[in-house]
Amino acid sequence: MQGKIALEEHFAIPDTLLDSKGFLADETWPELEARLIDIHGRRIEEMDRHGIETMILSLNAPAVQAIHDVARANEIARRANDFLAGEVAKNPRRFQAFAALPLQDPDLASRELERCVKDFGFRGALVNGFSQAGSPDNCLYYDMPQYWPFWEVVQKLDVPFYLHPRNPVDAWAQIYKGHGWLMGPTWAFGQETAVHALRLMGSGLFDAYPRLKIVMGHMGEGLPFSMWRVDNRNAWTKAKPNYKATRPIAEYFHQNFWLTTSGNFRTQTLIDAMLEVSADRILFSADWPFENVDHAANWFDNCSISEADRIKIGRTNSMRLFKLGNE
Ligand code: MN
Repeated sequence: MQGKIALEEHFAIPDTLLDSKGFLADETWPELEARLIDIHGRRIEEMDRHGIETMILSLNAPAVQAIHDVARANEIARRANDFLAGEVAKNPRRFQAFAALPLQDPDLASRELERCVKDFGFRGALVNGFSQAGSPDNCLYYDMPQYWPFWEVVQKLDVPFYLHPRNPVDAWAQIYKGHGWLMGPTWAFGQETAVHALRLMGSGLFDAYPRLKIVMGHMGEGLPFSMWRVDNRNAWTKAKPNYKATRPIAEYFHQNFWLTTSGNFRTQTLIDAMLEVSADRILFSADWPFENVDHAANWFDNCSISEADRIKIGRTNSMRLFKLGNE
């Protein structure tokens, strides 16, 4: 399929580059490093070869979220966003941008998002899970009350917020001790991010700000598969849900969330997601440079879904959600 839009596609600046080292075997680092720092060379070739018209770019992970010195987090976010704005301006048809945000401080994050959207025309934000603020073990999740003024700004700006994975900090990851292979995309990323999303849904955030738009990668980090059970466990007891939100969790998932195909190139999984949230809420993505564009595109272009759904997922859903081509 030609004209695809992909939106979980990363780059690095020198300050954040080494955050991506260690996820993969050392012998692949030279290749991954080259992929991360490239914007206009190999990346465009990959896009041309595999029918991707536009990538919405975002900083690598965990980057800003792991910088517990708040002033430094703000400085790196601004540096990355300034750099990205400059790169996108060189070729705006092929590249658009998501802001990195210093969510260690909700007020700083609100101001940086406003700056990126109003001054640079960024399409939203991509944030790498919880933020460490003040000390490495102070992990802040965005359902917490201090974040609600930030969410008010996000809703007012009317831009999507991509909740991207990161690993849990060591102190909170005892279940993985001795089983390091489960960290990262194998399992820990999805578990960490799915719980964060459920916290947002259960907190009542979407009752207060019903027009928030949250994007999740990797076909929803396992949530489509599990959503019915979240709301229907022990249904015979007729017990009221013990959370602050007013509605079943699935209703928020269906109304406030969009899912991308990043790093999860499996037709059975896509069809499960389509059956849970509909083809209108799924967006093609690769997760370059951690996954291959050819793996994403060759699978997506040929998977057994209707051509109407392929066009929605590959292009038109993203055009609408990110207001691309409306200027
Ligand atoms: Mn990613």
